Amino acid sequence: MWEVLALRFADAPGRMRRDNILSVPLDQDRPMPMAFFVWLLRSAERTILVDTGFGPEEAADRGLALRCLPVEAVRLAGTDPHAISDVILTHMHFDHVGGLADYPNARFHVQAAELVHATGPAMSDLGTARGYAAASVCDVVRALFAGRVEAYDGLREIAPGVEVHLIRSHTPGMQAVRIQTSGGWVVLAADAALFYENLETGVPSPVLWHLGDMYVALRAVKRLASAPAMVVAGDDPLVMERFPALSTELDGTIAVIAQACDRYISEAQDASI
Ligand SMILES: [Zn+2]
Repeated sequence: MWEVLALRFADAPGRMRRDNILSVPLDQDRPMPMAFFVWLLRSAERTILVDTGFGPEEAADRGLALRCLPVEAVRLAGTDPHAISDVILTHMHFDHVGGLADYPNARFHVQAAELVHATGPAMSDLGTARGYAAASVCDVVRALFAGRVEAYDGLREIAPGVEVHLIRSHTPGMQAVRIQTSGGWVVLAADAALFYENLETGVPSPVLWHLGDMYVALRAVKRLASAPAMVVAGDDPLVMERFPALSTELDGTIAVIAQACDRYISEAQDASI
């Protein structure tokens, strides 16, 4: 059984609804701030990090508010970054693959389609390339040449109770992460669903590679979880309200996903009786 923690390390306070929800003609100019997370998976034997976030250069370049370095958030959670054996990269956008050097003992797990996309001709389109940071992509390639990258084509078990699922949508090689917890299967949707509103209305984010695949992805991540509330949106500040803080001091920074899921499972069972 795994403990799942959401570590919030940055914010995009200036985002509007039109940036996050496709087709919102009535209130598209209303603010809808975004939060950035990495996720820590801990069992008695292993510690796995999901995504590595970004650092001060990317924050400054893109007008984002860094709360702390992602690796500092990992330390705040009580984990030594050197103890992380595996890092799952949901995809290679700039906000998911910065700071790989902070995890010197980790192997990196990515979908082959994402590796090809981020290093191929698609990057000659400046709009597509803007989602990626060349320096971070090069770091992944360097890790590949050092024999530290595992590239998959679809479903793979990274450890007992931790699976990656190829969810083509937001990018051609995005993968969601499915984790066995005491409360059932939790799914980290990452950017297949930036916000809970995407999940709950079925209306995707406009940040996508393929619109048809995106609609399929929103249904797929829900099917993988033991209950709808156990799908964790990728960039929604509500994560910090829906799940309890690791401690009083870390309220708003680190939330514990799995514990709260015990409650969601019992609510779902009660509703089905
Ligand atoms: Zn992304």
